[in-house]
Amino acid sequence: MCRLLPLWCLGKGKSRGGDDTMTVGGYAGSILYVNLTTGKVRKEPLDMEVARSFIGGFGINAKLGYDLIVPGIDPLSTDNKIIIGAGPFVGTNIPGSARVSSVTKLPVNGAVGWSGGGAMSFGVMLKNSGYDHVVIEGRANSPVYLKILDDEVEMCDATAIWGKGSQETVDTLYALHGRPLGVLSIGQAGENLVRISMAFVEKCGTLGRGGLGAVFGAKNLKAIVVRGTKGIRVSDRKRYMQLVEGLYERMRKYEGLKGAQIYGFLNFMPVMPREDYLRLKKARLACVSCPIGDKDLLEIRDGRFKGRSVYCSAAVNTLMPIMYGFTRDYGESIKLFEDLDSYGLDQMEALEILKFANQLYEHGIVTENDLGAPGIRFDPESVAEWLRKISFREGFGNVLADGFGELLKRYGNAARSLLPVVVKGMVAYQGITSPIKTDLFTTFEFGMAVHPKGPCAAPGGSSPLYFTRGRPLEWVAGHLDRMGVPKDAQERILTPKEGMALNVGRMTKYSQLSLFVVDMLGTCGRGQINRFYSNKLQAELYSAVTGLEMSGQELLKAAERALNLIKAANVREGFDRKEDCFPESWFGTEKHKDYYEKVEITKEKAYGMLDDYYDEMGWDVKTGIPTLAKLKELGLEYVAEDGKRLGIVYP
Ligand code: SF4
Repeated sequence: MCRLLPLWCLGKGKSRGGDDTMTVGGYAGSILYVNLTTGKVRKEPLDMEVARSFIGGFGINAKLGYDLIVPGIDPLSTDNKIIIGAGPFVGTNIPGSARVSSVTKLPVNGAVGWSGGGAMSFGVMLKNSGYDHVVIEGRANSPVYLKILDDEVEMCDATAIWGKGSQETVDTLYALHGRPLGVLSIGQAGENLVRISMAFVEKCGTLGRGGLGAVFGAKNLKAIVVRGTKGIRVSDRKRYMQLVEGLYERMRKYEGLKGAQIYGFLNFMPVMPREDYLRLKKARLACVSCPIGDKDLLEIRDGRFKGRSVYCSAAVNTLMPIMYGFTRDYGESIKLFEDLDSYGLDQMEALEILKFANQLYEHGIVTENDLGAPGIRFDPESVAEWLRKISFREGFGNVLADGFGELLKRYGNAARSLLPVVVKGMVAYQGITSPIKTDLFTTFEFGMAVHPKGPCAAPGGSSPLYFTRGRPLEWVAGHLDRMGVPKDAQERILTPKEGMALNVGRMTKYSQLSLFVVDMLGTCGRGQINRFYSNKLQAELYSAVTGLEMSGQELLKAAERALNLIKAANVREGFDRKEDCFPESWFGTEKHKDYYEKVEITKEKAYGMLDDYYDEMGWDVKTGIPTLAKLKELGLEYVAEDGKRLGIVYP
């Protein structure tokens, strides 16, 4: 029962519960459907044919998203769905198996988009309560949060937490329901339908770049809390134990283990002096089953916020205000980061849109009257106030809250010529002229253009190129082997073209598929965990956990099926080749270089690689959409049939 808050719980919202009939390991065996308008809840068995074809997590989310999100709907309407899932490894003790994935239609650009991330305890709790996926639709009459405690599913009054920041919301829910407890919640930005808002997993994880927070808000849904006690069964225990023990053994022997455990993400991305980080670090946090842990509790040591503790998904994230030049003080930067997280804002979008608004002012497109001030001051107090205005839609903050797409609609071509690095309505945040400045053109930068949703956390998939420079081709080939890339594709990737030894366009396909496998199974995508997994090992683990024998190539095929399906969901929304573009400013006087720093990446070269990407994907190079032959190969003929009804021709 809900306690303490003045709650109303809908009796008709109780689920039927019941025993799992599943005999396959790894899966909880059910999908929970929640209609917030009617208060009805139903539990349906997971279709094992679908599970075999789409594995779980992102894969089954993609299938549910394609089937249930009707093309053309308003993302903030009752028709939109929030689909959350955790793969078959989540709930086992496979290292770093706590990943959760979401799919919804995104308010920021209208794409059907997905997100995935290390989810602390949320995914594990969801699986243990008996559900692999949750599908939420409709809109509650007044603010609610969804409570799932094993078979007890209720919508509870959220009056007491509505209006609170995400961190305070989590604390209140912990106080109400005790711990352990998985919590997915939104801050005030989501409540106020800010299109650049996100959802938060407990206190240190983000989910849903592109406006998942606003979709929660539009449904009057403040949070989901979940606790389960059922356990997850493994089919072939002996084989499983051998594989998992082998994994832990390799981790123990890894020479970088200590560094990763001490310095977290900074071990791979040294963006601040280690001694400064150690001074700020108060505690290290980890998702359930993660032996490394890279989430941080920092403590501000000096200045006006001295003594304040701040949770973050990686210390590096708290430095964005410093990178933007708003401050040089760690304490001020961390506090701004805390504001962003607490409101539930996507920090890349929020900081970049403030810069853009000021540019519009400097060019006379936006007036002092519009802004309510002579320009935007970029000092910590002023930025904090603008973040508040965006989150509460006050003054010009109300305009900025709708993201870049709405600004362009409002100010037209004059604004377009000043547009920063934006692709599909979101900031392409890493690149030669991007907020995170990089000079090599790797799968990450390339992925910013081709990811169907737009620039997201890892648009180019799980690639070995992100944190390295110019490693020998044999090393790259070794990683291609690890990802399970077939030999003929390796040959195409490693065939020199226009002076480039490596074809990043072709490689991106396999890099993306490799990350989708991670997202489907439920292991962590971050390098410090993902480095221990190969495509072969993933397949062996899947076979041992579920009892369903599967090869590495079959896993990649399932990932390709899911990617094509989500691509098709976006083709239905009108996305095609014209949206897969690179920021113009990447081709100015300063240009990227190829991985071996021999060739400047001109516009022609970048778009030539785009052709190669489509070709490798089996997509039509002219339109950038899947071909009929590819859909048939993947068993997705029904996509072509749907297309006919909507006037879409898959060539
Ligand atoms: S590396 Fe970080 S995100 Fe990944 S499982 Fe560990 S704590 Fe979670």
